[in-house]
Amino acid sequence: MKYRTTLLFGAPGAGKGTQGKILGTIPNFFHCACGDVFRSLKPDSPIGRIFLEYANRGSLVPDKPTVELWEQFIENNKKSGRFNPDTDTLILDGIPRNVAQAEMLKDTLDVRAIFYLRCPNMNKLVERLQRRALRENRLDDASLEVIKHRLKTYERETKPVLNFYGKEMVHKIDSTQTPAKVMFDILRHITKI
Ligand code: ADP
Repeated sequence: MKYRTTLLFGAPGAGKGTQGKILGTIPNFFHCACGDVFRSLKPDSPIGRIFLEYANRGSLVPDKPTVELWEQFIENNKKSGRFNPDTDTLILDGIPRNVAQAEMLKDTLDVRAIFYLRCPNMNKLVERLQRRALRENRLDDASLEVIKHRLKTYERETKPVLNFYGKEMVHKIDSTQTPAKVMFDILRHITKI
């Protein structure tokens, strides 16, 4: 059985996490931010060490450990009853993050919609990430060089995921609006899937 899924999509700093957290509080939606799963690992565990090595320089963690960790996270949440695939829709943020991951998850995810939070202004993204670095103590957002590398990685590796699922799946949303308006735009579509 495949999981009914929607993807929150967009560059680092576009606001996926903000929206995902709110959506996750609505009954029958289960929010999973892959970056949060990584950050919850013990830094001295084998996979925690791999995460830090890649994330701190703004690169993606290799696909196999990423997908395995995600699958384990979902299994644990199914077992504990927090995620019920019969009634819940997954709201994924940060996975699949490249076409290889989308391929690996082909038989697991039934993707119904993609909410593409667009931010045409690169400086705004950089500004948001730098503010977050201070607030949330995120090493990967601390230096301008790493931020730039993250944005390049997004353009090169993550953006092609949109084509993988096809245009008809994608809802473009202006992420420069207020968080409430972005949420309004997502809710308008998500209630129909
Ligand atoms: P942001 O929302 O700012 O893009 P995330 O919290 O989603 O950042 O991710 C932080 C870091 O975690 C990424 O830069 C990457 O190193 C790693 N990461 C998160 N999700 C994935 C994934 N699906 N595949 C590979 N690496 C990932």
